Amino acid sequence: MSPKLQAPRGTLDVQPGDARRRLRIVRIAEELLGRAGYEPFETPVFEDTELFARGVGESTDIVQKEMFTFEDKAGRLLTLRPEATAAICRAYVEHGMHKLAQPVKLWTWGPFFRHEAPQAGRFRQFTQIDAEALGSDDPSLDAELILLLAELIERAGAGPARLRLSSLGTPETRAAYLDALRSHLRAHENRVSREVRERLDQNPLRAFDADHPGTQAVMTEAPRLLDRLEPDDAAHFADVRALLDAAGLAYEVDSTLVRGLDYYTRTVFEFESERLGAQAALGGGGRYDRLVEELGGPATPGVGWAAGIERILLASDAEPEDEARVFVALAKPDAKGRAFRMARSLRAQGIRAEIEQAGRSLKGQLKQADRIGARATVIVGDTIDVRDMDSGEQREADGADEAMARVRELLG
Ligand code: AMP
Repeated sequence: MSPKLQAPRGTLDVQPGDARRRLRIVRIAEELLGRAGYEPFETPVFEDTELFARGVGESTDIVQKEMFTFEDKAGRLLTLRPEATAAICRAYVEHGMHKLAQPVKLWTWGPFFRHEAPQAGRFRQFTQIDAEALGSDDPSLDAELILLLAELIERAGAGPARLRLSSLGTPETRAAYLDALRSHLRAHENRVSREVRERLDQNPLRAFDADHPGTQAVMTEAPRLLDRLEPDDAAHFADVRALLDAAGLAYEVDSTLVRGLDYYTRTVFEFESERLGAQAALGGGGRYDRLVEELGGPATPGVGWAAGIERILLASDAEPEDEARVFVALAKPDAKGRAFRMARSLRAQGIRAEIEQAGRSLKGQLKQADRIGARATVIVGDTIDVRDMDSGEQREADGADEAMARVRELLG
């Protein structure tokens, strides 16, 4: 026997119940984002590898370890997209969108790929909803996007979520800060854990998360990035916060918040579910005021977020609403044509109607109607009968129109 074929490691088949829940989340996103002026947009699922190397950052885990990269037949190096922002910025430049009225607000959803170790809530192919606003650094865009993501999480039934918020200032501020932090850690080298000492050069920020008591004591006196922002970055952050405060959205200012992508400037944020374990991030994002320029476009500020649909579903307890269903049964084989027309008319009226398509006996058909939870069954033979599937009462209708009216009555 040949080996059993299975979905590749870290991928999942989405079965109908989950697929419906996923579509519901996408519809909520479409409605929320559409109302705020975000237009749907799509970019390819693969791009030149260089886009992500330059856009996401050579030194990030994503670029170093997690990209699905392949060569096409002409020897071009391509990568399955690990995130959406770099591609949207590429498209913004490629289509001259800086000539449009600004800001340009876009949203998209679809599959993304990262070669990570699979675990609960972490996949190699996952689905993101992504929203971006390019061409303005107005703090109201930061606040608007954060509020939209909060609302999406809430309406998807994945709340409550903890919002962590910070500002990274400019890359220069950040670099100077990391130097100051390293100096602080070096000055207290004998009190911090070995782990922190060893990672001091690569990632001094790790020390903020340490469980080690000595390290924790050293970190209480450590410099904080938020205290070192340039005046206009600090003012920008204050404006974002004031808008969130006015909207009544709770958040924690967390100056240790770091995100796994290099391009962020100023605002960064992340929503974490209180219901999920290790992989608790539902979505996050921030401002990237230099990215478009780094990709060869004009200086263009931008801000955006991405949320993982699988994570939102894991955290969500919302069940999709059950749609009323109708079954069309055949009392005799030559009623097929009329039954087919009946099903089409029901569907045209917006009713979910399924017809017998597996050669069952009438008894088997009624069983099937029960199985799918049909509220009514229309039985087409020499006459047209409508059966109330709750009470079992069956009545003959005077023609197709009356049958339709009776079905409507039963669906309420
Ligand atoms: P990031 O761009 O890494 O902040 O990702 C944005 C969101 O996408 C995260 O908050 C998660 O909800 C989701 N996400 C990222 N990576 C994965 C993954 N490997 N599996 C499932 N969801 C993911």
